[in-house]
Amino acid sequence: MQTIVTESVAVAATWINRGEVVAFPTETVYGLGADSTNDKAIENIFSAKGRPPDNPLIIHVHSPEQIWEVSEKIPHTAETFIHHFFPGPLTLILKKNPAVSPLVTAGLLTVGVRCPIHPVARAFLKQCNHPVAAPSANISGRPSSTDWKAVYDDLQGKIRCVLKGPQSTIGLESTIVDCSETPPRLLRAGAISLETLRKHVPETRALTDNEKQQRPKSPGLKYPHYSPSARIKLCGSGYPDYKGEKNSAWIGLSSPPEGISKISVCKDPEEYAYKLFSFFRECDRENIEVILCEMPPAEGIGLAIRDRLKRAAEE
Ligand code: AMP
Ligand code: MG
Repeated sequence: MQTIVTESVAVAATWINRGEVVAFPTETVYGLGADSTNDKAIENIFSAKGRPPDNPLIIHVHSPEQIWEVSEKIPHTAETFIHHFFPGPLTLILKKNPAVSPLVTAGLLTVGVRCPIHPVARAFLKQCNHPVAAPSANISGRPSSTDWKAVYDDLQGKIRCVLKGPQSTIGLESTIVDCSETPPRLLRAGAISLETLRKHVPETRALTDNEKQQRPKSPGLKYPHYSPSARIKLCGSGYPDYKGEKNSAWIGLSSPPEGISKISVCKDPEEYAYKLFSFFRECDRENIEVILCEMPPAEGIGLAIRDRLKRAAEE
């Protein structure tokens, strides 16, 4: 299949409306979209990514009002989150409408829904006839794509179209909060932190260690993720000290140890998040063997970075 790269929102939306798979930019990472009401198109997302079928997709809407197409049970807590954070980098888990295909939700009775704030994403979603189901636009297990070239490297020949936009400004996937149960639970850390969510819904809680060990509430959490070909070693306070080795790279907030061939020192955790996945991909292109990643402080978006780094370091 020939993969078309376009900057035209209208062209990209036309492909979605014809049942094709289209990658598009958002503020978190690039999404791999298809019409959420078209089962064949949804199956093509799973096969293009090599995504396990029990890992559900997030549905993207162009406006908070469009949530009604996928869920009619919006509890008060979800209304509060929608009021403060939609559009933005927050996914809510809600009870799904019967019409939402079980392929999208991997058979769950709940659905993940997000309204991106990125202007290209919103314009594109507006021109699509139905809400768009979209996981991150990468081969399953690889780092998420934060620019259109990363999407193209992973998926050219497997999808119909890439809607080209700027690099994703946040660089990490959305925060996921489960509002289908009371109190709401944070399932995945992201740019909107637990502290921030609690300012508006104080009873919001994190998963307990026990819950993390049980069958994950968010099925995607059990799969390997975010992994470059290079090995990841975690550094910083509480972690072992590593020395630079031949073909090793460093990303973090402080200066690296001696002897590192490729270095990215970020000025703050936001810049760290923005650069992380594109740095992983650059390291792979340059045949780096080991990436030393400094753990940022465990607060704000630092918690989301730590989560992705720990998962990327899992063998
Ligand atoms: P991705 O878009 O690639 O970041 O993957 C979507 C993430 O959302 C995965 O980790 C899924 O497990 C999670 N997700 C999507 N729908 C649901 C749902 N109904 N319940 C819990 N987690 C979900
Ligand atoms: Mg993903």
